[in-house]
Amino acid sequence: MTLDAEVCVVGGGAAGIMAALTAANLGRKTVLLDAMPTIGGQLVGTLLGTICGLYSNGPRPYRVTFGAVDDMLNELHRAGAIHARRALDTIVLQYDEMLCGRWSERALSRANVNLVLGAVLRSARVESRRVVELDVSTRWGDLAVRADGFVDASGDAAIAWHAGLPVREPHQPQWGTQMILLEGFAEDAIPDFDGFHVAEVLKNKKAEYGLSREDGFIFAFPGRGVATVNMTHMPNPTEPIAATRATLEGRDQADKVLEFLRREFPRSMGQVRIRAYGLPGIRQTRWFVGAHQLTIDEVRTGHRPADAVARCSWPVEAHDSAETVHWETFEDRNHMHYVPLRSLVHRDSDNLIAAGRCIDGDVAALASVRVMGPCFAMGQAAAHALDISGGKSLHDVDSSRLANRLRDNLDGAKIDRWCDGV
Ligand SMILES: Cc1cc2nc3c(=O)[nH]c(=O)nc-3n(C[C@H](O)[C@H](O)[C@H](O)COP(=O)(O)OP(=O)(O)OC[C@H]3O[C@@H](n4cnc5c(N)ncnc54)[C@H](O)[C@@H]3O)c2cc1C
Repeated sequence: MTLDAEVCVVGGGAAGIMAALTAANLGRKTVLLDAMPTIGGQLVGTLLGTICGLYSNGPRPYRVTFGAVDDMLNELHRAGAIHARRALDTIVLQYDEMLCGRWSERALSRANVNLVLGAVLRSARVESRRVVELDVSTRWGDLAVRADGFVDASGDAAIAWHAGLPVREPHQPQWGTQMILLEGFAEDAIPDFDGFHVAEVLKNKKAEYGLSREDGFIFAFPGRGVATVNMTHMPNPTEPIAATRATLEGRDQADKVLEFLRREFPRSMGQVRIRAYGLPGIRQTRWFVGAHQLTIDEVRTGHRPADAVARCSWPVEAHDSAETVHWETFEDRNHMHYVPLRSLVHRDSDNLIAAGRCIDGDVAALASVRVMGPCFAMGQAAAHALDISGGKSLHDVDSSRLANRLRDNLDGAKIDRWCDGV
């Protein structure tokens, strides 16, 4: 089978969903492919449970990313499936992943996005700096997809890698996490294990339970009887046998976390069970060689380039050791940093653009801008950039025209009603 489109997006996570919806709403014939049999990437399948990077820092955080994500937030709010809470110096949103996945399916159908699930990209053909065709395998047979422009929202720079274009890999391991969803705890005891308290106990007891990581957190979703646990570290290798082994090791670690919680917090968690294991949580694998590499200095100084397309104030959250997470926060409570278009556009292609966690940045810069708020914004920006490029080179897109389209995501500020009083 062959599919022809104007825009082809590979990867249906936070970035790819927003890219596909935005492209389709701009009137572009859009195909969205994902290797998984369900939509949502890590936004849905990994059971992260918390959207970070969507609000400013400070006493009254305001939202910094709008557009296609508005509909998602409003629908989750109507369903009582969103809960705003304070974390660090900002607000994060706890959300129900299942409803988020259903919203994605309905929104993509309404926008007439041609969605192909269970579609694994296995090669990409390039002619004269343009990606022209992707070969995709599905359990029902093979598929060729031709398009004018391609968004690599695979998180792993899958299009660039298969096309033989240069990609980067980390020099030292960046650790992933096996997330779990707990049930069966005492709701009235939530304050006992909320926030980072459990991690303090873990630090002293990890050897006893065979755990490598000594920090992390448990966030209970008030009234829903479930809590998200982020307390393991596992490697994210880019080789299939090692990747599978790492997945199983992550699950073993999660089981040990369960044992630790039951024994150390008998009043609140003596009876907890794992309701679900998330899909392997992958932070960093391969990423683009872009026209520009976003640097940690640009993040620290809040440099706003002329071609800025997304912003956030999330700290640098480096998972670069098995034991712990290194946080770097910003002293200025008004701090904001920006992602330039050039970090999305592949250096050696005219019609290939990344969105999400595989854009070009140094390891520390990516440790901030890969959270979901900026991923939503980058997806939208990628679709607008392709639209404006009109079949010419993405390297020649007029940045003031693009900024005009993205002005809400660059300068808008809104205090959401679900954040009132938080
Ligand atoms: C454990 C963990 C906890 C995190 N916690 C938070 C948090 O609390 N809040 C927050 O905001 N952020 C968090 N993050 C970061 C954030 O979730 C991710 O960086 C973000 O979701 C990435 O979105 P994405 O769209 O770029 O990629 P992904 O969500 O990774 O989506 C990529 C998609 O591409 C598909 N794909 C990959 N290769 C192929 C291929 N060859 N063919 C076809 N499809 C392919 C995959 O199946 C997947 O669906 C966390 C990350 C991890 C790993």
